[in-house]
Order: sequence, then structure tokens, then C-alpha cells
Amino acid sequence: MNFENSLEFAQQLDAQDKLRHYREAFLFPKVNGEQVIYFTGNSLGLQPKRTKKYIDDVMTDWAELAVEGHFHSEKPWWDYHERLAAPLAKIVGAKVAEVSVMNTLTVNLHFLMVSFYRPTAKRFKIICEEKAFPSDQYLLQSQVKFHGYDPKEAIVELKKRPGEHYWRTEDVIATINEVGDELALVLIGGVNYYTGQVFDMPTITKAGKAVGAYVGWDLAHAAGNVKLKLHDWNVDFAAWCSYKYMNSGPGNASGVFVNERYLGKSDIPRFEGWWGTKKETRFLMKPEFEPMPNADAWQVSNVPVLAVAPYLASLEMFEEVGMDALIEKRKKIVAYLAFILAEIDSEVASTFEIITPEDRGCQLSVFLHGQGKSLFDYLMKNGVITDWREPNVIRLAPAPFYCSYEDMYRFGQILKAGIMQNEN
Ligand SMILES: *Cc1c(COP(=O)(O)O)cnc(C)c1O
Repeated sequence: MNFENSLEFAQQLDAQDKLRHYREAFLFPKVNGEQVIYFTGNSLGLQPKRTKKYIDDVMTDWAELAVEGHFHSEKPWWDYHERLAAPLAKIVGAKVAEVSVMNTLTVNLHFLMVSFYRPTAKRFKIICEEKAFPSDQYLLQSQVKFHGYDPKEAIVELKKRPGEHYWRTEDVIATINEVGDELALVLIGGVNYYTGQVFDMPTITKAGKAVGAYVGWDLAHAAGNVKLKLHDWNVDFAAWCSYKYMNSGPGNASGVFVNERYLGKSDIPRFEGWWGTKKETRFLMKPEFEPMPNADAWQVSNVPVLAVAPYLASLEMFEEVGMDALIEKRKKIVAYLAFILAEIDSEVASTFEIITPEDRGCQLSVFLHGQGKSLFDYLMKNGVITDWREPNVIRLAPAPFYCSYEDMYRFGQILKAGIMQNEN
């Protein structure tokens, strides 16, 4: 498609956009009295207008029914989380039984590693990407130490080639084969938080399984953003947070995927609690643990309903729209943003380098040559919410649910004005 860097053209794209009305379904912060251009849906998605009602409903049930709300509210609390499994299964490409909602992301990865990182003297190594999200680094180091191994020996970091900003799949596969029968686990962020690179999840999963390792994915930046087929890819386990592309609110609940081959088992190592036991017999308060036949077996505590309610509100919006429509718009709006960046690049002395490879989702990470943090500050003051990553990178994620093509055009104009001011 031939794009143009003009307001009329951007407005024309908006007029053709089937999702344009969803912009009205979200609450935007304001700067100088004007709705912001929001590029940080990869960090915290905007609040859907309908979310408040979902929380209010729980508050009302709690006020009117108190403990009876567990079984007698309109959406009973004791199995409230079950409502999320079917819509989530579509988003991550899983069977409904393979998905559950519980805890928060890093907590879930720890719990899942109880089942899927069981090192032996021979097979104890973990492969992850270099400079993984800090929480994942702490997760892996502490798990390795907990099992009595030395992180320096046990954790093998995937390196990028000198001068390159992305990982090559062939290098990932070569490392997996090299570590071979010492490899216990591959655990990588499916979409890298810094560069926005989408890893070749099916190929890497296959290679990891072929050498006898477990393969898990941290999908914090992938869920609700890119096409996932966790079941068909034969992934062992995965977890994601819901507050980034899934708009469920700050620090909110996490989703997990556990491959069906591990479901319904009593002999799998797992940290257990009463909410993982069979619903039918849970309240008999028996001493034996009888697992739920689905991923709910990993549930430890009863459901934090006030946290899960906004997640349900968000998932109903994903149900209405569907991942395919979101991905279609995402591809186009990201391409338009890349075009706008190239246009502005040609009009100013500074240069931008998009360090995100073609295998990408919503995010473009842009290295600003000849510009510093003052440009970021200028953008924020002028109503463009982005984020800054050292040394010189801004991350731009135009979430297809609520960003418009006009936002991209206006962003270009503000960016140009900020640079001109710095260059003069
Ligand atoms: C956002 C993010 C997290 C956050 O973890 P929480 O436990 O929800 O605080 C973890 N890992 C990655 C890769 C992330 O992008």
C-alpha cells in the first residue's frame, strides 16, 4: 500500500478502519486538556469503559450477599475464573482445558517451574535470551540456586551477533543442539520486551523438545498481540500477564497454559492448594489432593475475584473483535507508523533506526541517533506517551484496539517539531 504523510490520508485510513469505534470504548488520559497519543499499551493497556461495571457488580454482590456470593451471585465467585478460559484459549491457540487464570506472571512462572524444571546432575541447564526481562532473570537465577546449581553454569544465554539487534533462529537452534542432553528447559520471552522481536516459537519449541528438554514461553508481550498456537506448537507451558495488550489493569492476574499431556495427573510435581482440587469434592475437605482435570489443577488459592473481573471485561472485548481483526489492523497501523518515521527521518538531520526486525508485533523500538532524553520529555509534554529505554531507545506500540491512524500522523508532526527545536 502507498501511504501518505498527511492528515487527510490518515483520516481516510481511519474512516476505512472497522475497529475505529473501539477507540470510544476506552478511557484516555489527557495532557493540556487533550486526549493523549498512547504508545504504551505494551506496558499498561488503557482502561475499557465497561471495566468499572464488572468490578461494581462484584462489590454489589459482596454488599448484598456476602459469603453467599460464592455460590449465589449472578457470576458465582467460586468458579468465576472458569469464564476466562474459553476466550483466552482462542487468544493463545489452546484447548480450553489447557488454560487457567491465577496469581501474577512471575509467580506463575515459579509455580510452573516446579513442574517443568526438575534438574538432574546430567540435565540441569536452562536456555534463555540474553538481557531477558529482569524479573525473568531473577526467576531463573533463584530457581537454579534453589536446586543447588550455580547460575553461571546452569543458565545459557542466547547471544545476538555483534552489531545486530535481533536473535537469529539458526543461532538459537545451534545453541539448543550444543547444550543437547544437558538441557532441562528452554524459557524465552516470546516477544522481546526491548526490541519487539517475535521469536520463531514453533521452530524453537520443536528443537527444544527434540533434545528432550521442556519448553516454556513467557508471553507477557505476545498475548493479545501476535498469533499464538500453543497447542499445535506442542509447547509444554506458558504464562502471560493481562495488563499489557489485554487491558486488565495494573499488576493484574496472569494466565497460564499447560499442555494437555500433563493434565489430570496426580504424580506430577506441583505446589498444590485447595482450589486445584476437583470441584465436585472440594468442600468435603478431604486430606488427599484430587487434581482438577484441567490447568486449574495449578490453582492454589481461591479466586481473587476483584482482580479477575476486569480481566473478564477485557476478554469479552477480544471475543467481540477476534484476534484476526486485531492483527490485521495492527499490521497496517505499525506499517503506517514505520512509514511516518521514515518520512520525518528524511526531513530532519537526526536519524532513526528501527531496531525491531520484520518478525514483529505491535511494537517498534526506535534508536534515536543524535537525540537524547530531552526529546522524550518533549514528546511527553506534548501529549505523546511513549517510554524511554537506555541508552537511546523509545518504544512505540500503537495498540490496534484504541490507536488511530491520525494519532500516527500527529505523532510524526510532534516528533518533527521536537527534533527541530533540539537541532536549532
Ligand atoms: C511485563 C513482564 C513481566 C512482569 O512480570 P509481573 O510478574 O507481572 O510483574 C515479566 N516478564 C516479562 C517478559 C514482561 O514483559
